[in-house]
Amino acid sequence: MPQSLATRYPLVLVPGMLGFVRIGLFPYWYGIVPALRAGGAQVFPVQVAPLDSNEVRGEQLLVQIERIRRETGAEKVNLIGHSQGSLTARYAAAKRPEWVASVTSVAGPNHGSELADYFHTHYPIDSVKGRLLSALLHLVAWLMGLLETGYRGPRFKADLQASHQSLTSAGVALFNRQYPQGLPDTWGGQGAAQVNGVRYYSWSGTLQPGKTDRGRNLFDGTHRSCRLFARSFVREKGQCDGMVGRCSSHLGVVIGDDYALDHFDIVNQSLGLVGKGAEPIRLFVEHARRLKAAGV
Ligand code: CA
Repeated sequence: MPQSLATRYPLVLVPGMLGFVRIGLFPYWYGIVPALRAGGAQVFPVQVAPLDSNEVRGEQLLVQIERIRRETGAEKVNLIGHSQGSLTARYAAAKRPEWVASVTSVAGPNHGSELADYFHTHYPIDSVKGRLLSALLHLVAWLMGLLETGYRGPRFKADLQASHQSLTSAGVALFNRQYPQGLPDTWGGQGAAQVNGVRYYSWSGTLQPGKTDRGRNLFDGTHRSCRLFARSFVREKGQCDGMVGRCSSHLGVVIGDDYALDHFDIVNQSLGLVGKGAEPIRLFVEHARRLKAAGV
């Protein structure tokens, strides 16, 4: 039993926009890393630039993959990306498929985020509102860098505009043309299970009144943000986790796209404050078992 999650290749966890390994005593993947390690998996939560394009973050991820391969002697890694981390992982797998056994997208905006579209329209970068928002996010990224206790590498430069353009529907459409591996052919469909020897999977959640807004989320400000952000959705109105739409998240084998989890709950944030009956850690544990069964 203790080795039930001992996958053949290490699990590399890639955070999203404004991501981190640990801020103070607050890990990004709260409870997930210990649960996977307890089952015998080798787990590496990595850091890439909190504010930058999928391509820049992807190149940074490739450097980390190279290091992990060297340190562990493993030929490949399994990439699990949350939010923009999914696009980051997809880039790395497209560039070096021989280093990647699988890419798993957890609430990844694989067809763009309608929230990013909303900001693009209502807070244009050359407007006063846009400049204020940009300054605020740069400040947040800088403060988070100061408070980071889980990552000790060099500081990353911040490029909000590149980050933002990497998340809009139009920006991701451009990215998808270059890196289509694992994408569904039809809106809401599933993608290929395997491309260039890399397995592709995804899961995501939606806001579900009566579930996601209950339980410990009553005490979580990030949940209130998700409910507010959800109002910006048009195409996937009522079918989003606050930041990413249900169908937009689809990549490869769709494990599930309607778990009662908001965009932060899905990685057990904040500090395990999730909705009623939600079990985000279980999804990661089950997935490690799935990867192990698949021989990766
Ligand atoms: Ca939460």
